Amino acid sequence: MTLSGKTAIVTGSNSGIGLGIARELARAGASVVINSFTDRDEDHALAAEIAKEHGVEVRYIKADMSKADECRALIEKAGACDILVNNAGIQHVSPIDEFPAEKWDAIIAINMNSAFHTTAAALPMMRKAGWGRVVNIASAHGLTASPFKSAYVAAKHGVVGMTKVVALETAREPITANAICPGYVLTPLVEAQIPDTMEKYGMGREEVIEKVMLERQPSKEFATTEQLGGTVVFLCSDAAAQITGTTLSVDGGWTAL
Ligand code: NAD
Repeated sequence: MTLSGKTAIVTGSNSGIGLGIARELARAGASVVINSFTDRDEDHALAAEIAKEHGVEVRYIKADMSKADECRALIEKAGACDILVNNAGIQHVSPIDEFPAEKWDAIIAINMNSAFHTTAAALPMMRKAGWGRVVNIASAHGLTASPFKSAYVAAKHGVVGMTKVVALETAREPITANAICPGYVLTPLVEAQIPDTMEKYGMGREEVIEKVMLERQPSKEFATTEQLGGTVVFLCSDAAAQITGTTLSVDGGWTAL
């Protein structure tokens, strides 16, 4: 399929799932804006590399998704937004009575509030263009819970709820809003959880992956960033024009249990 002529903005996309999504959107012909809060030479080099590989325009725009004004400025600076992928996210794992308040605030801001601000800024552009796709990267934790992830589970459930509202508010327009709910995907965010989990359970790396991380993922395989990117491209296709206000699980059967 071709997304030629469309501009896609993917928040938090210099790494992991966001980067996989940016690559697949570029492969499908979209102009892509990649984003993070870092603004390093590598971030701009990454944009140039994806542009060269797929022969499309790829820009890096710095914006800190924990800050409302920067979320909105990202969309304004991009100048167009046909496809908005709200992907930026962080994690912190702790029992709720020990959960640091500043971690709670950061997770709610980056994983949930940012999607409100970017969507609010992008919808007028989609309306003007007469077409739009909002894709929120939620999680299996947007549909189910796990202990010690209070802020993350709250934020992801919030994102799923907001997705439904955006879908209803745009239902009579050629705009859709959906949430993708991945199970475990081996990215830096997940990699960072492995050492603590090894220590907590007194297990080795492979045992932690199979028995703890993929315990609830019946396929016993990680989902891949390419699969997530492919799911976003599908949601941008004509075949998905009537898919709105729903969740697509890419979780190896986790939420079927
Ligand atoms: P990651 O750590 O590899 O990537 C996170 C991205 O967010 C990075 O590009 C980082 O720069 C960016 N980011 C973090 N804080 C930011 C900020 N303040 N402003 C701008 N950008 C910021 O993580 P990932 O695993 O690729 O996660 C991406 C999304 O997918 C997250 O929303 C996460 O909750 C979700 N998710 C991940 C998994 C998984 O197993 N990896 C499963 C379900 C959902």
